[in-house]
Amino acid sequence: MDTQEVVRLPKLSRVAVCGGTHGNELSGVFLVKELLKSKQGEDRNSPILVLSNPEATQRCLRYLDVDLNRCFSRDALNSPLSDSPPYEVLRSRELNTLLGPKGSADSVDFVCDLHNTTANMGLCFIAYSDSDWISLHIFRHLQRCLPEISMRYINFNLPPDEAYSLDSVGKHGFAMEIGPQPHGVVRSNIYTTMKTAVQHMLDWIHLFNSGTVFEGGLVDVFTLVKHVDYPRDCKTHDIVAAIHPELQDKDFCLLNPGDPVFQTFSGETTFYDGNESLYPFFINECAYYEKGIAFSLSRKRCLNVPAVQSQRNQSNEL
Ligand SMILES: [Zn+2]
Repeated sequence: MDTQEVVRLPKLSRVAVCGGTHGNELSGVFLVKELLKSKQGEDRNSPILVLSNPEATQRCLRYLDVDLNRCFSRDALNSPLSDSPPYEVLRSRELNTLLGPKGSADSVDFVCDLHNTTANMGLCFIAYSDSDWISLHIFRHLQRCLPEISMRYINFNLPPDEAYSLDSVGKHGFAMEIGPQPHGVVRSNIYTTMKTAVQHMLDWIHLFNSGTVFEGGLVDVFTLVKHVDYPRDCKTHDIVAAIHPELQDKDFCLLNPGDPVFQTFSGETTFYDGNESLYPFFINECAYYEKGIAFSLSRKRCLNVPAVQSQRNQSNEL
């Protein structure tokens, strides 16, 4: 056996599980409500449970005024407030007070933010870095525990200041994105996958805090390269095509130059004109029509993750 160096990391004492950051992504909404019923206050080790956007959740909307999950970059959190700020801008500051302040020593150790997608993506971790060993080890743990679930690790590759989503408020964290599930709908299989994954994640954190050594190993990471918009009418800006049937539901299947990507409403096929084969994801995500994203493209890379163990005594270790 090789003698891997073990990276020692601080314990994860304060952990948050958030749902309803998008109020119509119902697996996370109902899972957080369920966990709130059974766990809150009973166990010192239980996570902080947060319904992130209660107003939007009550109305089963993604958001009321602006997308809450785009409000957590350093600039967005610190810019002066207008006279009548959007609801989600105020809410993002409340959440930053509860779980942050982002980037400070006081921020929680770990945030898992629960999301659903209408795309056929299985279970995805979405993170900003490819060197957050905590998130990568939790991902490996879930792969071991749930071999029947297709699982991918997506890296958006942004510096912490520019990271804009709720999970970026913690010292570690990721969005757990599961699909396909229509927004405003809860499907039992998707809900159960999320519930089981969250339980295994919390189990890993408990084992880590108890001093378990987790062996290193390889993880495939999909790093965002670019977003692709729908073809649009240059005057009206209306979309003029839908995702091609041969691309629909083929998230994480390699897209090669010349492959069909769109079918116009007049019946013509358009083809991928890039010169590099890449992996598409978020194909035909309902909520991204407004963002001008028909699908995103990523590059796959195999990453070597070191062994980790929690620091025995954080004050002595320094
Ligand atoms: Zn979402």
